[in-house]
Amino acid sequence: MPVRHDHWIGGKDERPAGGAYLPTVDPATREPGDEIAAGSAPDVERAVASAVRAQPEWARRPGAERSETLHRIGDAIEANAGELMELERACTGKTPAQLRMEADMSAAYFRYYAGVLRAHGGRTIDQGAGHHTYTRFEPYGVIAAITPWNLPLNQACRALAPALAAGNAVVAKPSEFTSASTLHLARLAAAAGLPDGLLNVVTGTGPDAGAPLAAHPGVRRITFTGSVATGRRLAGRRRRPARPGDAGARRQVAPGGVRRRDLDRAVAAAVAAVATNAGQVCSATARLLIESSVHDEVVARIVDAVGGLEPGTDFGPIITEDQFRKVLGHFDAARAAGLTPVTGGSAYTDGAAARGRYIRPTVYAGVPPSAPVAREELFGPVLVTMPFTGEDEALARANDTDYGLVAAVWSGDVARGLRLAERIDAGQVSVNGGPLTIETPFGGFKDSGHGREKGIEALHEYGQTKAISLSLG
Ligand code: NAD
Repeated sequence: MPVRHDHWIGGKDERPAGGAYLPTVDPATREPGDEIAAGSAPDVERAVASAVRAQPEWARRPGAERSETLHRIGDAIEANAGELMELERACTGKTPAQLRMEADMSAAYFRYYAGVLRAHGGRTIDQGAGHHTYTRFEPYGVIAAITPWNLPLNQACRALAPALAAGNAVVAKPSEFTSASTLHLARLAAAAGLPDGLLNVVTGTGPDAGAPLAAHPGVRRITFTGSVATGRRLAGRRRRPARPGDAGARRQVAPGGVRRRDLDRAVAAAVAAVATNAGQVCSATARLLIESSVHDEVVARIVDAVGGLEPGTDFGPIITEDQFRKVLGHFDAARAAGLTPVTGGSAYTDGAAARGRYIRPTVYAGVPPSAPVAREELFGPVLVTMPFTGEDEALARANDTDYGLVAAVWSGDVARGLRLAERIDAGQVSVNGGPLTIETPFGGFKDSGHGREKGIEALHEYGQTKAISLSLG
């Protein structure tokens, strides 16, 4: 019998009102895995009611107390990382290194916002003698956190830590394909001292559990990461803007003013874009703009390097069957349009990898900018290269996309790198490998989302400013 996971509501397991459970699958083997509760509107109702009850007392606590609790949740994630990683592995097939990195970052989100919270406050406004005017940072109340399947625990923590820090309660709705780690996180948080009702998890599909949660009048704000279509739907439905997280992305690497060392690092970054989570990362730098003079050399080096990547060791499978079919569909469409990859372009058909949803690392070189593979988010282990001549052409190509989440520029000429970084329409730009971390605000321009996650900016997304003015006369 498969293990069954119930909802987590009000600090305890709750069976789904409809009595049904959904299957999950290990994408590395296609073997059936645990089952999760198939949530529906009555389950959402209970979870929101529980959050509404718990939130005011949490918001009244001094920031230092909330901070202590968040620190303890960070410690609990670290101490129980093995269990969390195993739950995540079972429904994503991720590699051990990928799982470890995500678990470490998950703990770090709680520690970061525990610290930021203690240094955060309002301000006083000088209106002359006889008046005392100041601002307070206040929570919204109940936040809905709707998260996708690519980095399940990590993306839950990215939203939950600042939301709880700001004094909100949360109802989380993880992806129906990857819910177990978020459920276990909620259990660990309760054991670490988070009061019951502050973090509830309702599992189930988007239409059956996500939609009633997003529409619930008790929910004051939504944080969402996933597809552009769902993000738009949720944004349209709310009185307040939803935050379609980092829905959809486009990203560029533009080596220019070439030095050997920059080329080495740019090639390594391109290979990492394929290997990291098998390209299922919204910030993967997978659309490569390469100066014509070095284009063929860079492509040859990338092809050589990705040829050495081993499925199951260096990169994992595609997490959902839909996404697996979608990536293969992109290959079919490219073939029909006369494009041939220089490497890859198919799923594995022999060996252990053929049992799972593994796709060969794939490179399309010298692709026309209008080709769908150069314009759409492929969300798989696929790189697309386009040559350019001169800075203006690089910039025009980089900005010729509906998306704008993350870009990376590689150049031996630092001034040129910064000039490009300032003119690229993206929420984050790394120049010559500059780190983008929890401290750096993350979010998209154009179709890549509203609002910011990470950094101090994310805390502001989960609180609102109140001005209070007192006459002393
Ligand atoms: P999705 O938008 O359907 O799902 C994301 C989350 O939203 C899930 O929890 C889902 O259950 C929920 N959801 C779906 N419909 C909903 C609705 N009507 N109301 C409320 N919640 C709803 O995304 P997907 O199908 O998982 O992936 C589709 C595409 O999105 C992928 O091919 C990829 O290109 C992109 N994607 C992006 C990210 C990212 O981090 N930017 C992550 C996953 C997928």
